[in-house]
Amino acid sequence: MIRNNYHTHTCRCGHALGTDEQFVQAAIKAGIRKLGFSDHAPYRKSCRGIRMYMKDLKGYVASVQALKEKYKDRIEILMGLEVEALPEEWATLSRYRRDFDYLILGQHFLELDKGDAYSFDKPEQLHEYVKKIEYGASHHLVECIAHPDLPLYGYPYIDGNVLKMAEDLAEISLKYDVPLEINCGSGCKIGWVTYLGGMRLPYPVKEVFDIFIEKGCKLIIGMDAHEPYDFLTDERLDLALSITDFSKAKILEDYDILAAAKRNKALFY
Ligand SMILES: [Zn+2]
Ligand SMILES: [Zn+2]
Repeated sequence: MIRNNYHTHTCRCGHALGTDEQFVQAAIKAGIRKLGFSDHAPYRKSCRGIRMYMKDLKGYVASVQALKEKYKDRIEILMGLEVEALPEEWATLSRYRRDFDYLILGQHFLELDKGDAYSFDKPEQLHEYVKKIEYGASHHLVECIAHPDLPLYGYPYIDGNVLKMAEDLAEISLKYDVPLEINCGSGCKIGWVTYLGGMRLPYPVKEVFDIFIEKGCKLIIGMDAHEPYDFLTDERLDLALSITDFSKAKILEDYDILAAAKRNKALFY
């Protein structure tokens, strides 16, 4: 079981279950000491079932703050958001950068609600994806790159383009000192899938993480919890860690995300 988890959703995104307090109680039960909420951030245009509505942001902040106070003797609660690096939403992202404890980058689209990263099947899309990640990292927008290999959910095989994507992501992570996440969410929930190139998890993917490990990138584990129960089992964590040999990986078990956010906020823009 992990001690810190900075990747936690709430029911406001429209595809997660449970109350905010149930997430906190489950995390305490699981022995988590630092719990960061990072629900899918809203933008000017809403999208039902994908991310929270702008009108719910205030309630999210109020709820997390109240829980932080209520449970302060038992767990440290941080207020974050999972954002997309979208130049067209820069004004909103700047506000989040300033107002939230930390941000994580979960790039699900190339443009707002366009270019769905779950359904990539062309090398150019991987290239565009990398460009978006670099945009976020180079602006010091985020403290972690969540599920960096998410495009492999739909991408049919592990080819040279995938390895190039992994190398580029490793370079970005090292250059801007942003850890890459070993994600225990949807990819592990789905489990082993037969792709054209053979059986693998949709993500995380061995070939990608082998490159991250070889290049010496900092890694963190993210539960990507979408229901309180996700904290109460190690099944998906074990699955994510079974894809390759992580013994030589630089897994940050006590990543001080607040200190990283402080550094990035000072460098932001
Ligand atoms: Zn989600
Ligand atoms: Zn997430």
